[in-house]
Amino acid sequence: MKIPIRIPLAYLPTSIEPLPRLTAALAGPELLIKRDDQTGLAFGGNKTRKLEFLMADAQAKGAHTVITGGAAQSNHCRQTAAAAARLGLGCILILAGDPPPTSSGNLLLDLLLNAEIVWSGAKPRDQALQETYDDARAAGRFPYLIPYGASNAIGAAGYTFALQELLEQGCNPDWIVFASSSGGTQAGLVAGAHLFGFKGRILGISVDKKASDLQASVAQLAMETATWLDFPVKFSPGDILVNADYLGSGYGVMGNPERQAIQLFAQTEGIFLDPVYTGRAAAGLIDLIRKSFFDPGQKVLFWHTGGEPALFADKYAAILTR
Ligand SMILES: *Cc1c(COP(=O)(O)O)cnc(C)c1O
Repeated sequence: MKIPIRIPLAYLPTSIEPLPRLTAALAGPELLIKRDDQTGLAFGGNKTRKLEFLMADAQAKGAHTVITGGAAQSNHCRQTAAAAARLGLGCILILAGDPPPTSSGNLLLDLLLNAEIVWSGAKPRDQALQETYDDARAAGRFPYLIPYGASNAIGAAGYTFALQELLEQGCNPDWIVFASSSGGTQAGLVAGAHLFGFKGRILGISVDKKASDLQASVAQLAMETATWLDFPVKFSPGDILVNADYLGSGYGVMGNPERQAIQLFAQTEGIFLDPVYTGRAAAGLIDLIRKSFFDPGQKVLFWHTGGEPALFADKYAAILTR
């Protein structure tokens, strides 16, 4: 197996904590949490592990500027802007749609980090991204493109090593449950489970995709990640566990289930979730526990992937304080 080049950006290992009051409140299986919201870089989150490898690749290729894209409240964009600032690289973010009336939450942090922001407006985001990349290249800025969610084989490798980290911490849960969207986190964990012999189940709660689409893209990316790390292995969509029952009204739309999950974690354990990803995944976890999906004797690890700055985005704060 190959260990790719890596720039340390995260505080690792992240802690694993028991959730006794949440476990009691739900009267279900034993719950634990892995705190990847505490990876340390600019309020943390799961993209930091991926960026350790992607930023190393960018620097090795002589990049002066990194370019990526996402939603206005993208945690991925905020962590990329912070990594670029720390390494002295430029950062251009292609954000979907038009600027909101106020710059709050992650968007405020992007501005403080001095990221250049390009709003895609009515243009398809991929086209805006490609045009920005071509312009930066023509201007001699040596741009490096980081995919949405930092989810290619190089980024997903961050979660292959995160699975190794979990096992080295002596933690062997029956289930790992987390928010899955662009699929890099899940693909990395699945590849890591194969490589390091983890026998528990890895259940992604889909944030925005139908199950069959997410299963297919995670299986593909897990194979690419394994190949990148020099241990080729085959995964098929049927190997990938996804639950897409909690999509609500779509990406970034916080409903009652997310709000109640955020309140329950805060009020039983003093832990904040985010409105878009971990709030939705936790709402799914809570519902599955209430439906007796897990056996009572099992150990279930909720992998916190970050995102708390979005709590302070005006559009979510207004709903959360209602
Ligand atoms: C990006 C993100 C996810 C989803 O991770 P993927 O690797 O894109 O599936 C989950 N939670 C938070 C807070 C995120 O920012």
